[in-house]
Amino acid sequence: MNGDDHPARPPPHGAAWHVCSYCNKVYPNLQALGGHQTAHRKEIEEMRRQHEARVQESKQQRRAAAAAAAAAQTADEERSVNLELTLGTGVGGPDLKLRL
Ligand SMILES: [Zn+2]
Repeated sequence: MNGDDHPARPPPHGAAWHVCSYCNKVYPNLQALGGHQTAHRKEIEEMRRQHEARVQESKQQRRAAAAAAAAAQTADEERSVNLELTLGTGVGGPDLKLRL
């Protein structure tokens, strides 16, 4: 840290101080404020990047969960189709015999 952790002192009377719009610290000149706010922008950029990464990750997890659910449903449907075919064969058996 470069002295930013010191509590901000109130600006002396008649002096033009510059207030950081992110954390309300005051700086005696624009150069100091500018350097300080550059650090804020890097923090914000990093937070945004991490947030985007988390959003992407949760999207992928949701997609994977949805795909797994869809696969499970498809398996269920295939099972019930097989069951119907088995029943159909059983029911169709006597019909075929009757027709013979
Ligand atoms: Zn600040």
